Amino acid sequence: MNLQYIKNVATLKLDAGKCTGCAICTDVCPRQVLKMNERKVEIINLNNCIECGACSKNCPFSALTVESGVGCAAAIYFGILNNTAPSCDCSKSGCC
Ligand code: SF4
Ligand code: SF4
Repeated sequence: MNLQYIKNVATLKLDAGKCTGCAICTDVCPRQVLKMNERKVEIINLNNCIECGACSKNCPFSALTVESGVGCAAAIYFGILNNTAPSCDCSKSGCC
């Protein structure tokens, strides 16, 4: 299933000048929004971004920013799929 966010509204921003290419953000992103290209990350699918904030929180160089205060869409999806209260279990993985 290829769920997409509303087109062209995700607040994700990349400051490529700060990116060192450590690739942590590509490891923690649950939606394949980011991809390594040579020694920098690039945003390849902005509309897949659910603004969970994992990339921004885990970037050691503050190269990524996103307004994630409106709630975690991943948690809502998991809650719907599991028929439970919204929870993404981030406390287990430490992603956000
Ligand atoms: S975590 Fe930050 S520094 Fe590392 S690749 Fe991603 S944007 Fe670049
Ligand atoms: S905010 Fe979440 S979904 Fe969006 S790019 Fe970052 S880790 Fe991926």
